Amino acid sequence: IQEKLDALKPNTNQTVNALLDTFALDLAAKVDAKIAKGETIGLLEGIPFGIKDVYMLQGTYTTASSELLKHYKSAYTATAIQKLLDAGAIPVVKENCDSFGHGSSSENTIFGAVKNALNPNLVGGGSSGGSAVNVAKDYTVFSIGGDTGGSVRQPAGYNHVYGLKPSYGRISRYGLMAYASSTDCVGPIAKSVEDIRIVLNVMSGKDPKDQTTYDASAIEAETISDYSNIKTVGYFKNFIDSDAIDSKIKADFLATIEKIKAKGIEVKALDFFKSDILVSTYYTLAMAETASNLSRLDGSNYGNRIEDKNLKESYAVTRSENFSEETKRRIVGGNQVLSQGFSDEIYLKGLALRDAISENFEKDFEAVDIILSPVTPSTPPEIGSSLKDPHAMYLSDAYTVGFSLGQLPTLTVPQGTETGLQITAAKHNDELVLKFANFLK
Ligand code: GLN
Repeated sequence: IQEKLDALKPNTNQTVNALLDTFALDLAAKVDAKIAKGETIGLLEGIPFGIKDVYMLQGTYTTASSELLKHYKSAYTATAIQKLLDAGAIPVVKENCDSFGHGSSSENTIFGAVKNALNPNLVGGGSSGGSAVNVAKDYTVFSIGGDTGGSVRQPAGYNHVYGLKPSYGRISRYGLMAYASSTDCVGPIAKSVEDIRIVLNVMSGKDPKDQTTYDASAIEAETISDYSNIKTVGYFKNFIDSDAIDSKIKADFLATIEKIKAKGIEVKALDFFKSDILVSTYYTLAMAETASNLSRLDGSNYGNRIEDKNLKESYAVTRSENFSEETKRRIVGGNQVLSQGFSDEIYLKGLALRDAISENFEKDFEAVDIILSPVTPSTPPEIGSSLKDPHAMYLSDAYTVGFSLGQLPTLTVPQGTETGLQITAAKHNDELVLKFANFLK
């Protein structure tokens, strides 16, 4: 891995565009030194991993792939990342992504579009595109992405690797640059269920610095190899019967359903909210939250500051020159949704819909153990094509955003459909999700 990273460093733009800041390290020497001193070896000792460029790692650049924070260096380390360091894992790269997590293709970045690991003409997916591509290319053993509405699961699917969005609150968000705080999740991307399990266990748990976290017991390898409590699986009829779904994705998904039935599992077709309701509820809330979260980025405390006539003008110029078009679209949309005269009509309605979606999930999980879904209705687009139509890009998130609003654990596995299969269980039941992934193997 060290050799591969060194070779790529000078010309990452000609390859996959997934790597930003790479850290020169002699991986083996570091572990050998510990052994020589008789020190205990950590669970992840010497394992090289990548970090989406929205996590604080003290002393390294954390740019969120944005112009505004291009020269910003982290003043501290995120809790999730610190836990990995404590277990001996070695960060080797900060990874290209959509700026502030805004996007589904990793093209909304100042560092150039991330290229798909399987076909460089296609997008790497987003927003954690660099993280999924690096794992797929074996530049990292695992990478830590961030998933607000699909950003770990979708690029994992596009690059045929595993990506988990854990239950909301299982992993601390402290030190993850906030996009939409009510659905932001720290999520591992790796090449096997076992690697996901190990990394998830290391990062999980209550953190006094994030009041939404809870204590979760470790998931044991043995427990997720006993399939006796998997009886019923559901899927959403309207996702599969939609006109918008690619015919190959649909056929692959239905083949998986047949395979599951053949294993003696009962399969139920479930009713669910229409895709456009899911997408508009998610984007209403996500834009409102990002407008609020990014309001602190005015150049006075962090990042590039552009001076103008007075303070107010300086803020305005700093923000309009340094935020991307997509980020500005979301800030403007979010501020509109939150403003007087609109908030009751739009924002509060979004909150009510989110409650209804969560209640729908609770009812579903009284009838089924697992819900399955393709990750996306469509295959990865060519680089450059989705930037022309932001609305179409939002609609491509139709199958991931509902599970985010429900704060549910959802894992992408690289099978079932061309772009991956999502496995979801009831809130806090991450163990069952991993178990089902093993069962499907
Ligand atoms: N594509 C979605 C969005 O742009 C999800 C992004 C994410 O999970 N960070 O909001």
